[in-house]
Amino acid sequence: MNIVCIGSGYVGSVTGTAFAVLGHQTTVIDMDQKKVDLICSGKSPIYEPGLNELIEMHIGKTLRATTSYEVVYDADVVFIGVGTPSREDGTADLSFIRSAAKSIAQNLNPHKFTVIIDKSTVPIGTADLVASIIDDMSGLKAEEHFAVISNPEFLREGYALEDVFFPDRIVIGTTNEKARAVLRELYHNLLNRVGYDEATRHFKFSFNPQARPAVYFETDLKSAEMIKYASNAFLAVKISYINEVARLCETLGANVLDVSKGMGLDSRIGSKFLQVSSGWSGSCFPKDTAEFLATSQKYGRELSIVKAAIESNELMHDFCVEKVQMRLKTLIGKNIGVLGLTFKPNTDDARQTQASAIIRKLLDMGANVKVHDPKGMDVFQSLNGGLAVSYCEHADEVAFNSDAVILLTHWDDYLHINWSLMATMMRSPYILDTRNFLPRTSLEELGFTYEGLGIGNQF
Ligand code: NAD
Repeated sequence: MNIVCIGSGYVGSVTGTAFAVLGHQTTVIDMDQKKVDLICSGKSPIYEPGLNELIEMHIGKTLRATTSYEVVYDADVVFIGVGTPSREDGTADLSFIRSAAKSIAQNLNPHKFTVIIDKSTVPIGTADLVASIIDDMSGLKAEEHFAVISNPEFLREGYALEDVFFPDRIVIGTTNEKARAVLRELYHNLLNRVGYDEATRHFKFSFNPQARPAVYFETDLKSAEMIKYASNAFLAVKISYINEVARLCETLGANVLDVSKGMGLDSRIGSKFLQVSSGWSGSCFPKDTAEFLATSQKYGRELSIVKAAIESNELMHDFCVEKVQMRLKTLIGKNIGVLGLTFKPNTDDARQTQASAIIRKLLDMGANVKVHDPKGMDVFQSLNGGLAVSYCEHADEVAFNSDAVILLTHWDDYLHINWSLMATMMRSPYILDTRNFLPRTSLEELGFTYEGLGIGNQF
């Protein structure tokens, strides 16, 4: 097929590359010339394991990148993967979506049927908005010349290629039969179809014998848009819940590692998203929960559980700062090293991370802060230019003359730091491991005072 992906960020560059790998003629459009130039020179505009190599292999063959929307004219399928950041009031800013819709309208081919796909996470009803903009501007009729459908993206940064090639589910939101047929063909080529169940409207796919078959789920537009928000909010609630349980464990002397393991053994609960942290963060959960809550409030059906999860998450950031403060008593003039600025390992995405919230609190309390991240320092610095922190090239530099080190992101790199050297460099070797990730006993043998989250006093 002839595919266009608008946006070459964390979603667009991965989606575009994946379809190019599968042999589709794919063009990625971005308004950012620098990103386009990077892709054209065979490099990924973001850090995502494996992506650079695939772009390098396919650029100029099945993969192209441009700033021009002219390629929309020949497209069978146009993915919209632009950003939908939060506005001040928590609602999603749709200006990138509107602008993409206008540019599509100016380039749509009146002689063919084009399927336009919202891959971005967009408020319920946005596909109708996109269709209306295109209809108004092009004079072409929705459902006849084009259809706007929802196909939300569920990839996880750090595992994005795996998730795109071996998804758990593909959700298609449209009742337009022509669009459904195009999407079935598109995804049929992505994965080898092995069967369709009329009753459940599920296709069972099996591409890699080791991978669990994906479920291909067709539904209506608004339900598909809702599935994305309801899923992300549910995961955020689950993390907030285990973080609250961790705080109680700590007070009562229980061990949240065992508690979450014991809970996760129940298949109704499952073990995923039961890992304690300094709070959920990143470019999706904060903005998606805020938008979902704002929508629920606007329509008089407040999602009080989502509201509570957001509040609880902020308390978790405070809880981490409080632990350091209780250890050091006052933070004025104390030197604190922070390891990890991205919301999770294996990405350079440092948008709206727990690190920025926690570092701001430490600075407000008078601490001096040194930071390190294996991949996310440039992104973090570009987004937090005003933050008075020192950026360290090597992880062990954060320990120099420090009163505390806080591990925020569980990069594997941090398992391999010279912790013995770190202990000798610190004023007092105290570490707060907010992921319960580091080898506690070894660190204690090196002279560290080690604290995790929710693991009580008995260890
Ligand atoms: P991003 O900010 O990394 O990328 C968006 C890209 O779109 C940028 O490169 C920007 O220059 C480009 N762009 C904006 N407006 C444009 C326009 N009119 N024409 C051409 N290019 C334009 O964003 P992202 O992280 O890839 O997220 C995109 C969407 O996907 C968001 O709605 C997000 O919530 C959703 N999503 C993200 C993830 C993730 O892990 N990052 C996962 C699932 C869903």
